[in-house]
Amino acid sequence: MEKTRILVTGGTGYIGSHTVVELINAGYEPIIIDNLSNSNIDVLEGIKAITGVAPIFENIDCKDYTSLDRFFEKYPDIKAIINFAASKAVGESVEKPLLYYRNNLLSLINLVELMRKYKIDNFVFSSSCTVYGQADELPVTENTPIKPATSPYGSTKQMSETILSDSVNAYPNMKCILLRYFNPIGAHPSAEIGELPNGIPNNLLPYVTQTAAGIRERLRVFGNDYDTPDGSCIRDYINVVDLAKAHVNAVQRLVEQKNKKSIEIFNLGTGRGVSVLEIIRTFEKATGVNVPYEIAPRRDGDITQVWADSSLANTELGWKAETSLEETLLSAWNWEMRLKEKREAASK
Ligand code: UDP
Repeated sequence: MEKTRILVTGGTGYIGSHTVVELINAGYEPIIIDNLSNSNIDVLEGIKAITGVAPIFENIDCKDYTSLDRFFEKYPDIKAIINFAASKAVGESVEKPLLYYRNNLLSLINLVELMRKYKIDNFVFSSSCTVYGQADELPVTENTPIKPATSPYGSTKQMSETILSDSVNAYPNMKCILLRYFNPIGAHPSAEIGELPNGIPNNLLPYVTQTAAGIRERLRVFGNDYDTPDGSCIRDYINVVDLAKAHVNAVQRLVEQKNKKSIEIFNLGTGRGVSVLEIIRTFEKATGVNVPYEIAPRRDGDITQVWADSSLANTELGWKAETSLEETLLSAWNWEMRLKEKREAASK
């Protein structure tokens, strides 16, 4: 039987690559497009090592309407699109807002226009808990009010949600699932794929693993005077493979027409808030490796605490975060060690 083809834009990126693996495991045929602006072509080998399948890959920039049009002409039988192609560094977005609006919004508009042209009905979008800002009540449900964005990156996520919501209103066949991720961390348990931060990491986990590996001298804990039990910020850290599996459920729901509304929103988190200091302690316990750290001033724009109510995803998507924090942190460490092996092999 023919496999159902799913376009994964940004499919060589961190969450994209893990999703490609889970799509293959679930019997789909993912096709990747990526412009490799923040990812590496070697990721394809990692995907093959895990699944035995080398997915179709096309080096295309989603901002380029003409190339994208040609792509859809070449692969006419795509049943759904999962859109990961976007820039995601909050700090960079403040410095280069137009780059973020261009990358994130133009790509999305091109994709939706071409979905209409090529009669593709189903769209899954990578959104973020950043749309909630510092919520007045925790945990955050899908009905928690959206707060004004605090960065151009956050604005692009809010605007993208609006673009999709207006599009499904206007175009009767179009169906969309917005997935609001909390803090994705960890790597595939095989250590064949994982996060590849560009330069000095902004996010906590890659900074932790690089410090543990001796690449960075010391982790800075941004603030220990917040109104939380240990004074450090609290987030909901979600295992990247668990997160990837939610995309498979979302695609299935759309392709099998089990969605209840033309646009649906799901929070993807564990439901548990964990502080920065707890992450350090749990990492040390899980790996036996020390993480040197110091307390540093608060980071601009950080919210104090956020965690998800994912019960809607549990009941409607049939999805649940399953991997323990210890296991997730260990997977991140194993991936860091794999990267070290690769660097050493390359320098020989
Ligand atoms: N953080 C930290 N040191 C770092 C990087 C991050 O203390 O080097 C903290 C940050 O202040 C926040 C949490 O770790 O409380 C998660 O930050 P990250 O940038 O990974 O995700 P965010 O929730 O900000 O999107």
